[in-house]
Amino acid sequence: MMMTTVQFPPSDLTNCLQSALAYAEKRCQQQHARLTPVRRQVLALILASAKPVGAYTLLEQLRQHKRADPPTIYRALDFLLEQGFIHRINSLNAFIGCICPEHPHSSSYFLICQYCNEVTELKSPELDTLIQVQIQPLQFAAYKQMIEVIGCCHKCQPLSLINE
Ligand SMILES: [Zn+2]
Ligand SMILES: [Zn+2]
Repeated sequence: MMMTTVQFPPSDLTNCLQSALAYAEKRCQQQHARLTPVRRQVLALILASAKPVGAYTLLEQLRQHKRADPPTIYRALDFLLEQGFIHRINSLNAFIGCICPEHPHSSSYFLICQYCNEVTELKSPELDTLIQVQIQPLQFAAYKQMIEVIGCCHKCQPLSLINE
């Protein structure tokens, strides 16, 4: 099975952050969606973070610049999720930037390292098809497919051996 792997965050984060934000602005403009300053700031904080980041951490970071309350953060997160700029990692209760927001997708597969919490997003059309084939006879209408694979990343593998 072919898997397309793209590491997040990429090494050239600053360039990448700028172009990701520029892209988000452009697409919101085209779709008449409002990327308010708060939404933009929350997106920038998520994209700048090397690891998935939780709502309360975002709130703390945002409060260093302006007054913000939890509903503000949650509304911003809902907007960014809806636009496909970010993903929610359920097992970590945290958010990461999407590796390719240019192609909004309803399916994502995440590799989550339980030692360092690093998350890698994968795309697999093959896996999408496989799931479609499985659910079709059940007449189940799928809206989203999020699979979280918990394990140990290659960088933490020596560490995990010491702990055993
Ligand atoms: Zn994605
Ligand atoms: Zn790791």
